[in-house]
Formats: sequence, C-alpha cells, structure tokens
Amino acid sequence: MARAPKLIVGNWKMNGFGASLHEVRRMLDALAAQPSPHRIVLCPPAVLLHRIAEVCAGSQIEVGAQDVHHERPGARTGDHAAEMLHDAGARLVIIGHSERRTDHREADGDVAAKVQAALRAGLEPIVCVGERQAERAAGEAIRVVRSQIEGSLPMSLDGQAFAVAYEPVWAIGSGLTPTLAEIEAMHAEIRQALSDRFPRGGASPVLYGGSVKPVNAREILATAGVGGVLVGGASLTASDFLPIVRSADQAAS
Ligand code: PEP
Repeated sequence: MARAPKLIVGNWKMNGFGASLHEVRRMLDALAAQPSPHRIVLCPPAVLLHRIAEVCAGSQIEVGAQDVHHERPGARTGDHAAEMLHDAGARLVIIGHSERRTDHREADGDVAAKVQAALRAGLEPIVCVGERQAERAAGEAIRVVRSQIEGSLPMSLDGQAFAVAYEPVWAIGSGLTPTLAEIEAMHAEIRQALSDRFPRGGASPVLYGGSVKPVNAREILATAGVGGVLVGGASLTASDFLPIVRSADQAAS
C-alpha cells in the first residue's frame, strides 16, 4: 500500500528579507529538477507572503501564514484576517505556535477561534500543541497535550483538512529533541485524542516540530505516527531545508 505523503512545513518566524527569495528560488530549482512525493510548505512572515506566493505559484511549494486574527477584515491595527492571508496567496496557516501562546498570551480558546477563522477563509490550519520542560519532568506531558487538543481544536474541524504539530516547547530552537520513543508515544496519544474527538478525524497528519535538522530528520520522519515535520531555523536556507525534504523521500522508501 502506498504511504501517505509527509507534510514538510518551514516556519520562517520573524526572519527573512526580500533577498531571501533567492533561497526560495534555489529550493524551487532543486524540486523542479527532482520533484518530491511529499507536500512542502513555506510559512514566511506576512510581509513576504505575497512575494513568495508569486514565486512559488504553480510549483511544488505551497505557502502558508504563521498566524491569523480570528475576526473578519476590519478595524484591527497590525493584524491580518484569514481572508486577507488567502488573498495574499496563503493556503495553510500555523495557529497556536508556542511563541504565540507565550509572547501573546494566546489561550486554547483563542487558538480555537483562529482555527474557525481559517476554515471560514479556506485556509488549512496547522495547530501547534506541546508541553513545557517542567510539565514533562512532572509527568504531565500527555495530560497537557490532550487538554490543548480539546481546547484548541473546534468540532468544526471534523472532516476538514487540518494538521496537528506536536512541538515540545523545550525542543524549539534549543537543539534538544525528545527520544524517538517519546516522539512515537506522544504521536500515538495525539492520534488517539483525535479519533476520540473527531468521528472523521483519522486521516489528519500529526507533525513533529522542535530542532529538526538535516542530521535528525530522517529518523524522526521514519518514526511511527510522524506524518511530517514543522521546521523553524533549518527552513531558512535551501542548503538546510532541501536535505530535510529529501530525508522524507528516504524515510518513506
Ligand atoms: C518552530 O518554529 O516551530 C520550530 C520547531 O523551530 P526550530 O526548528 O528552530 O526548533
């Protein structure tokens, strides 16, 4: 039986300038020469979204946003409505990243409202969950992640295209990762939580995120239950991101 394509998502965070389009062109050239069977997504900062979407139009790279406001377009200075992100070329959106949950005090209810907004505009949500180090040390990781899933994923997601990204907060940008056994165990929990919650939710990919690099991508992508990866720092350059994409090709073969 053919394996499902992995979802490989690059989150540029607050990085990238006009000159970074050069890196995107390098990724596109490599993928044109050797296409990947997987889904590849770049999520640049909002100021680059439209330019990168234009460069990637008709290519293998899909473009996503990093956040969305829950309301329709209107008087919200500095924010972006889902309809505007879609108009700029985004087709996916990361929601509830731990940096948003921490820096902007986004709670599960805020995340759920943003997910509703994404669905309203036809954006595919990638909803992030993950425990802090102290929570893992206290044996609370599964309880925390299950509770985030219940609070952040509205029932309207049932039957829709969406992904969940498991990102242990302590692994993001730290160079630390859980063991493969820990990743496998948490992914199995999340899969169970999704099928408990959504009668039709069985097929949504569960991604791993947190210090994914070219050196560890292959083993992470080959771990049972891992439907893809959410990559921060190593998605900024073609020389780091392409080997991660190719690792998915190898992990699936
Ligand atoms: C992220 O931005 O979601 C992330 C996982 O970052 P990094 O890969 O740099 O740890």
